[in-house]
Formats: sequence, C-alpha cells, structure tokens
Amino acid sequence: MLRLTDLKLPLEHGDDALRAALIARLGIRADDLVGYTVFKRSYDARKRGHIVLIYSLDIELRDEAGVLQRLAGDAQVGPSPDTRYKFVTQVPATGAPGSDFLRPLVIGFGPCGLFVALVLAQMGFRPIVLERGKAVRERTQDTWGLWRKRDLNPESNVQFGEGGAGTFSDGKLYSQIKDPQHHGRKVLTEFVKAGAPAEILYVSKPHIGTFKLVTMIEQMRQNIIDLGGEIRFSERVEDLHIENGQVRGVTLASGEQIRSDHVVLAVGHSARDTFQMIHDRGVYVEAKPFSIGFRAEHPQSLIDTCRFGPQAGHPILGAADYKLVHHARNGRSVYSFCMCPGGTVVAATSEPGRVVTNGMSQYSRNERNANSAIVVGITPEDYPGGPLAGIDLQRQLESHAYVLGGSNYDAPGQLVGDFIMQRPSSEFGSVQPSYKPGVKLGELDSSLPGYAIAAIREALPAFDRQIRGYAMQDAVLTGVETRTSSPIRIKRGDDYQSINTKGLYPAGEGAGYAGGILSAGVDGIKVAEAVALSLMAVKKG
Ligand SMILES: Cc1cc2nc3c(=O)[nH]c(=O)nc-3n(C[C@H](O)[C@H](O)[C@H](O)COP(=O)(O)OP(=O)(O)OC[C@H]3O[C@@H](n4cnc5c(N)ncnc54)[C@H](O)[C@@H]3O)c2cc1C
Repeated sequence: MLRLTDLKLPLEHGDDALRAALIARLGIRADDLVGYTVFKRSYDARKRGHIVLIYSLDIELRDEAGVLQRLAGDAQVGPSPDTRYKFVTQVPATGAPGSDFLRPLVIGFGPCGLFVALVLAQMGFRPIVLERGKAVRERTQDTWGLWRKRDLNPESNVQFGEGGAGTFSDGKLYSQIKDPQHHGRKVLTEFVKAGAPAEILYVSKPHIGTFKLVTMIEQMRQNIIDLGGEIRFSERVEDLHIENGQVRGVTLASGEQIRSDHVVLAVGHSARDTFQMIHDRGVYVEAKPFSIGFRAEHPQSLIDTCRFGPQAGHPILGAADYKLVHHARNGRSVYSFCMCPGGTVVAATSEPGRVVTNGMSQYSRNERNANSAIVVGITPEDYPGGPLAGIDLQRQLESHAYVLGGSNYDAPGQLVGDFIMQRPSSEFGSVQPSYKPGVKLGELDSSLPGYAIAAIREALPAFDRQIRGYAMQDAVLTGVETRTSSPIRIKRGDDYQSINTKGLYPAGEGAGYAGGILSAGVDGIKVAEAVALSLMAVKKG
C-alpha cells in the first residue's frame, strides 16, 4: 500500500474526479490502479471564494515498488505507515487471570472508563464497572427533567450516568495529543464498530452528535458484557480501602464492599464528593489550572458566511466552526472552547442550587445558533487554599449564577452589545437563546471575578475583527461556564498508578489527564494496558 498526501480538489467533485486526479498525480495508467481508500480529508478555507478539499489516500497498485522507485524524493508519496493499534493482540490470551479475586474495578463509565473496561475485557480480564448514574436511556429522561421541568437528579444528569459527561454533546472527536501508538485510531475504530459514521475515521474534524452517541454507548456496553465484563449502574463508590499504601477495594453507597487490588478512578471532573473522599483518604491530589467564562450564542449563518463566504451552506463543509484567542492587557488569555456549530446551550449542573452552562449538537448541526464557551484561563494562584480550592471557587460561581438567574435553574444572561457597553439587558433581539429551562437577562458583571470580566469585555471586540459581527448587539452571553476541565490533578507515575497509592489508577479528565472524549478514551486505553501488565505480573508472581 502506498500513501499519497496533499492531493487538492475543488469542493464540487465526484469519485471519478478523485480517481482521475490520483492517477494523473502518480503518472500511472488507469488499469495499474487496484483500489484506494481515503485516509484523511480536510479543507483549506483560507481563500473564501476558492475552498479546496485536501486528501490523503491509501492506494493499492499493481506495481507499487516501480511507482515508489520512479517517485523517490517526492515528499507526498511513500509507503503507507501502519496505523493499527496492536497492544490487545500482543497480549497472550493465557495472560488473563480467571479468578474473581483479581478482577479489576473501573469507577466511572464515561469515555475513559468505557475504554478501560472495553480493552481489559478484550484482553480477557473481566472488569467490573461501577457507575453512580443510570443507564443511558433512563439518564436521558433525568437530564430532560432539568431542562424541561427544572427537576435535577444529582445522581443522573448531564455529568453523571452511562456514557459520562460527553453523552449529551456535540461529540467532537479531535484532540491535539501526540499518538505514536495509534490509540486515537483504536478509539475511532471502536466507535465506528458501535455505529458511528465511518467518516469519523478520515474527516479532519469528526463529530458524532448526541443521538448517535446514545446508541453507540449501548452497543459498547453490550460488547463489554459479552466479553465477560460486568457493568453496575446506580452504584456510587463512597470509599476506598487503602492498606499500607496499596488499594484493596471499595465501599459502595449501598454499604457493599468489593475487594480488588486494581482500581481505576475515571470519575470525570464533576465528582466533587469523590475528590474530597480520596483527599481525606490521603491520596495525593494537587490543584490544577482550568478556565471560567460564559457561553456565547450567535446566528450560525453569521459564522458560516464569515468562514465560507459564497460557499456557506455547502453540504461537504457543514456548519462552520471557529477558534479564537485574545491576550488581554491584564495578562489573561481569553479563548473559545468547545464550539458547537448549529447546536444548543445546555444546563450542565450536577449539584442542586447551582447553574453551569455547556454546549451540544446533533449530528446534523442544523440548529439556528452557533455556541461556544468564551473562557479565561485561571491558575491555582487565583484560588489559593489547598488542592480542592478550585472546587470551592467553581461552587461559589455556580451558586451565584443560580441566584442571578432567579433561583429556578434559569441561567443569567446579557446581550453582547450591552455587556461591552456595561449596561444591563432587558430584551432579546434577533438571537433567541437556546438554553433550557430559560435565560434571565440582566447584568453579568458580578458573575465572574473582575479580571475575567475585564478580559472578556476586551476580547469580544477583538474577536469581531476575526469574525465580522461577533460583537453584534444581539448575540447572547449565558453564564456561567465553570467546568471546562478538572480543577485538580490526581498525580500518577510512569506506571499510571497514583504516586502514593499503589493499585489506584487515576484516569481521564477528572484526574487531570484528558480534556475531551477522544483524549479520555485514549487515556483509558493506556491505563487498561498498565493494569493488564500489572495483572499479568501478579499472575506470574
Ligand atoms: C455538555 C457537554 C458537552 C461536551 N462536548 C464535548 C465534545 O463535543 N467533544 C469532546 O471531546 N468533549 C466534550 N465534552 C467533554 C467530555 O465529555 C469529557 O472530556 C469526557 O466525557 C471526559 O471523560 P471521562 O470518562 O474522563 O469522565 P466523564 O465523562 O465525566 O465520566 C465520569 C463518570 O464517572 C461517574 N462517577 C463519578 N463519580 C463516581 C463515583 N464516586 N462512583 C461511581 N461513578 C462515578 C460519573 O457518573 C460519570 O459517568 C463535553 C462535556 C459536556 C458536559
């Protein structure tokens, strides 16, 4: 197989044109070509009137060696690298211990816990997953309970339950992590096996959307069960048993105790009670930077026109996204985060009496508004007071937002024009906010620390210079966005175990080792590999 990169074609073209272009590029006859697959497809929209698609293709030829020899020195042509993930297939099946005593525990069934469990199950280790929330269909009902009836279930909501925090999301699957062993490819391949569109394997910015994620998660759960794993819902882990620096098991909220020497902690960034518990038990935890801000909503058509010009609305391009950064005079960085094209702003609290925003989309991304978090980076210097002080700050901001919203789970909001001009808003204009149950207009100045308000106020007009109309009067800001990433890190060593508690594997976003669905899945696979190596060593010993 040979890889051809950087093949550019106009937006409007069919398969025949792609085939003809690759034949011409390689200088071969049509009957020399056995077949090809698209490895990557991206677009270059820098010239808005002339957007081009850029392909990387894996190509099978009758005389591959001859073509490679003829095109030696051509930087865009070479043998296809092997991008398959191999660890699972390298583990001898006999390496898996059979006894129940050694079954590894996985706390949390978000993308991280899901991949820990799947990979351990594929290696024959029969993991037990303990998830505090409900199975995904029941959880969906509970999540709608907050959005439609102002009724929050603190154990089953946007943050907690099967599939984890990203289930009701845009399902963006890109990440900037380095991936020499193709863990990311493994995540995407498993998603496709579970029903995700095959294009996620090759488009440059893949996304899945909420509805598809729900059915995929159910399919992956079944795979784990079929391979001997066990998944227990509505089982909150309340305590860890640690003896002489080695984890020995857990206690559930029901009082049940489960013995294990391998416990993966993949609890996400909102498990504040669990963070407190492990800190109280002496597991090493440190404060970590995160970001705070608002959700901004604009008409999607404004973003599409700005990014794609006359080609806005083209089906291959879909709804346009954006990425913005501004370095404010007060030294703070303001940036867009978790942008959801054609999506909605969602209520994302897991604690009563608090308001938190986030965003989601369906696969079609065809809602009227674009939304994105506009956030300011903060560090432990902004919240001194120990490893858990970031949680205190989050809680304080979320409680205040609840009060500003009217103490009924409506979120506080302000129009962008009014926010810039420092005057309260009283009426929506052309942009209707999508946040449910509702948005209460007023003034957002008291909802974040002064330095964050000043930095965002300066950033919005600066963003307008990149996306004309971004600082439009009627765009809506909704607050507060506080759960951008974990406020703590549960530090681990090279063996993926806590630096002071052997057998405890902090993993995923909550532990500070991932920042999205893909990176949480990748971290889950790496942790599963580490657990497997340790279990095999126990078996040999
Ligand atoms: C609304 C929304 C939209 C998002 N959109 C995107 C997106 O488009 N793309 C993207 O890459 N990322 C997105 N994210 C972020 C992404 O969801 C997270 O980065 C990812 O889910 C982290 O995975 P995780 O497995 O580490 O943790 P989580 O997904 O948070 O999973 C942790 C799980 O642990 C469970 N748990 C917690 N404590 C306990 C306990 N004591 N006992 C038992 N179980 C427990 C929780 O119930 C939860 O199910 C979004 C997040 C939200 C909230």
